Amino acid sequence: TPALIWFRQDLRLDDNPALHAAQDRPLLACYILDDEAAAGWAHGGAQRWWLHHSLAALRDALASRGATLHLAVGRAEAVVPQLAAAIGASEVHAGRLYEPWARRRDEAVAKALQAEGRRLVLHSSSLLHEPHRVRTGQGKPYSVYTPFSRAIFALGEPPPPLPAPGKLHAPADAAEGVPLETLGLLPERDWWREFPRHWTPGEDGARSRLRRFAARALEGYDGARNTPGVEGTSGLSPHLRFGELSPRQVWHAAREAGAKGEATFLKEILWREFSYHLLWHRQELPEAPLQANFAQFPWQPDAKLLRAWQRGRTGYPIVDAGMRQLWRMGWMHNRVRMIAGSLLVKHLLQPWQAGAAWFWDTLLDGDLASNSASWQWVAGCGADAAPYFRVFNPTLQGEKFDADGAYVRHWVPELAKLPDKYLHKPWEAPDLVLRGAGVRLGADYPRPIVEHAAGRARALDAYAALRAEA
Ligand code: FAD
Repeated sequence: TPALIWFRQDLRLDDNPALHAAQDRPLLACYILDDEAAAGWAHGGAQRWWLHHSLAALRDALASRGATLHLAVGRAEAVVPQLAAAIGASEVHAGRLYEPWARRRDEAVAKALQAEGRRLVLHSSSLLHEPHRVRTGQGKPYSVYTPFSRAIFALGEPPPPLPAPGKLHAPADAAEGVPLETLGLLPERDWWREFPRHWTPGEDGARSRLRRFAARALEGYDGARNTPGVEGTSGLSPHLRFGELSPRQVWHAAREAGAKGEATFLKEILWREFSYHLLWHRQELPEAPLQANFAQFPWQPDAKLLRAWQRGRTGYPIVDAGMRQLWRMGWMHNRVRMIAGSLLVKHLLQPWQAGAAWFWDTLLDGDLASNSASWQWVAGCGADAAPYFRVFNPTLQGEKFDADGAYVRHWVPELAKLPDKYLHKPWEAPDLVLRGAGVRLGADYPRPIVEHAAGRARALDAYAALRAEA
């Protein structure tokens, strides 16, 4: 009997267990844009741009094998059973999702299918190991990264990736879907116009980026991954987010490359795995602090401060460079995500959820598990968080990780002519130096929105107040 393949966050043909399971049967592939079920966690603006192009690539790849990608907009709870009935499918195959809203939806879809004698079959396709299978010696979920990563390494090598299917067969009466444009994924304003310079959504783009990384940057990853001014990391995060690559493929490619940076890189892949582990076991992760006492934290929400941060006008060059990179490229270097996040939640006392929401809207790799877990880590309220009282000094961070200023000069060009000595602290530059570099502080580029020592002291006071209440 025919099968329905429901694509969600595994937009690829290679190593796709759902597709693999049904490849010998007549099959219809579908993608359903279901913003209503996702509610507050529907794709952000940048992700929608990516999704549009990724679906186009998937549609073409499926067509070249003889299969159709049926596109629909609406409640999956209704659309999936309808499509399955239309082609007479006894089974619907899909990759498992871990977001709380998606889990609830899968339960409802499974129930609706069951009522008609059909089955929803979920496959493990976006993680190395299913989060419910990884347990401590006491049979509990992990809440600390290092023992979690050790446990994953102890499980041994993940299985090798599955091959892509050969020729596929369409069922006799496949209903036609809507054209891709009907999904309305491309934002009306073209703030994304620089994205295509940096990214090629889709499986081919993912594969070539992985190949390039394994052949070149992986060797020096240990040293270069903390230098935002060089291309020292893989840039695979949006591809992984949409499942154009599986972590298994990435894992094995890194192993096969036999490069020096392998161990460090695999550990980073495990941070993603750990974030999913947390999301699965602590479903409040995107909304509420995992350390419950932080629910009383005296945040001071302020729209003006938030806006200055979002626009890259805080007066701290490394932070502003990061926020502008995010806006223009849909991506920000990991080190700078940590520095920019820290300034927001500590010096500016803005709730971490406000930062997470901005990232969600502007990141191409916006991922509910990694974004939520990382923001909780930055804010000091997560499972395995850096303690809140450790406050990054954005000037020293800039001087350390962008020592030659390549990153700041690229993203904050109005400071480009400042000498290295003042690049990360323009407010200390003598007037003569500022004039020589063509910088009018307070006009071309802002003075710091908050002075570091004062911001740090205020953050520590807020934390002390929280502790006193507990
Ligand atoms: P590489 O260094 O090449 O790492 C390879 C892969 O490992 C990444 O693609 C990613 O899948 C995974 N990875 C690496 N570091 C982490 C990490 N700390 N946590 C989880 N996975 C990791 N990552 C996202 O994918 N989506 C997000 O929405 C996201 N939000 C973040 C928010 C904050 C405040 C911070 C501090 C980090 C966030 N990260 C997020 C994690 C990390 O910054 C990105 O995964 C990384 O910068 C992606 O670039 P890359 O692919 O070149 O990374």
